[in-house]
Amino acid sequence: MTTTASEITYRLEQKRRVQADFPGPKSVALTERRKAVVAAGVASAVPVYVADADGGIIHDVDGNAFIDLGSGIAVTSVGASDPAVVGAVKEAVEHFTHTCFMVTPYESYVALAEQLNRLTPGEHEKRTVLFNSGAEAVENAVKVARLATGRDAVVAFDHAYHGRTNLTMALTAKAMPYKTNFGPFAPEVYRMPMSYPYREENPEITGAEAAKRAITMIEKQIGGDQVAAIIIEPIQGEGGFIVPAEGFLPALADWAKDKGIVFIADEVQSGFCRTGEWFAVNHEGVVPDIITMAKGIAGGMPLSAITGRADLLDAVHPGGLGGTYGGNPVACAAALAAIGSMQEYNLAGRARHIEEIAVARLRELQGQLSGASDVIGDIRGRGAMLAIELVQAGSKEPNPELTKAVAAACLKEGVIILTCGTYGNVIRLLPPLVITDELLNDGLDVLASAIKAHA
Ligand SMILES: *Cc1c(COP(=O)(O)O)cnc(C)c1O
Repeated sequence: MTTTASEITYRLEQKRRVQADFPGPKSVALTERRKAVVAAGVASAVPVYVADADGGIIHDVDGNAFIDLGSGIAVTSVGASDPAVVGAVKEAVEHFTHTCFMVTPYESYVALAEQLNRLTPGEHEKRTVLFNSGAEAVENAVKVARLATGRDAVVAFDHAYHGRTNLTMALTAKAMPYKTNFGPFAPEVYRMPMSYPYREENPEITGAEAAKRAITMIEKQIGGDQVAAIIIEPIQGEGGFIVPAEGFLPALADWAKDKGIVFIADEVQSGFCRTGEWFAVNHEGVVPDIITMAKGIAGGMPLSAITGRADLLDAVHPGGLGGTYGGNPVACAAALAAIGSMQEYNLAGRARHIEEIAVARLRELQGQLSGASDVIGDIRGRGAMLAIELVQAGSKEPNPELTKAVAAACLKEGVIILTCGTYGNVIRLLPPLVITDELLNDGLDVLASAIKAHA
């Protein structure tokens, strides 16, 4: 197993370096220009503008260097300028930028489908379709499931996040900021209780029992034979990096199979080595009928995919699936190169190594906080998809104010850390998988100090 990233070469020095008074003048000027022209509804977490990025470092236009513990929301797992991805993009773009796969097809789309059919769980015959965004992949997975089953109902879960388009808003659980005032939403979406070990009323409930709880509700409220699809994130992303209790996913998948329901694993955030396996469902040996992928797939180029059982995907009539840009040739070249880098650098192994380092550090920190500063309620996640849930000391009451303060304090020191969670009280760690141990530890030092200072 690869335990250091020493064979990975970096273009930029992997070192944090920020001016005390950033944002600097160039970023401030850009913020002013932006306010006049960019819609206020698009918010940015960090008030600086990027000039360059490589490995675990992001440079801004004023010369500050930040540690990236967010990967542009789990996208740049291979880094933001992986030489293999950059080279493949340059090579592809010199030949053609686009022809539309639905008009004049090209090899890279086919080659990527071959790779995805091979890498996704299960030995069965598979088919793949490529799109542009995660939401588009989810929309299409549901389209396929409805057509193939002839049923309407779709089951999603508490704390789910599946995107911002109309159907995916309906599937997403959290109102603010994703849904509030954006309705009406797509019909025939039903929400069921998730397995959320830290917040279960009965802390003894097993994964199988939590699955039974959801299944009973589905049977009572919808009827198993009415359900086209169950869609679930094997580790929930925006909802708070919630890892369901062991046995929950297999029990749901087994029941779905029994009822002819299409089991869709939304691995848009958890896929591509992020959790220490190619896909998060691999941890429990679950084989989804359809898997949705995006974020980490193409080293930052916009691309998404659905891969699933051939009998389901081939049930759709020719022309029923597609899109102008879906499977853009430059994005396909980037994805093939990114997958190559994941294999070459054993980034699944790197993700497990990051988990070892970070979880040990976070547990140590948790042990140091006591009494009124005992604010780390839960440490969870897999691989390089890790989170801490911050609470009011001595209770499980969510502490979103502290969460905000900690993220802001980290940023001030030059460490980009994202938050998430239904209650806004989760600090999530999503470093590029190519981050050096030194940079990761430096970032974790900053996080630990920030929590100690604000707890
Ligand atoms: C980000 C995300 C989506 C939506 O992807 P976009 O590319 O932003 O449309 C869907 N599902 C999950 C699990 C995600 O994390």
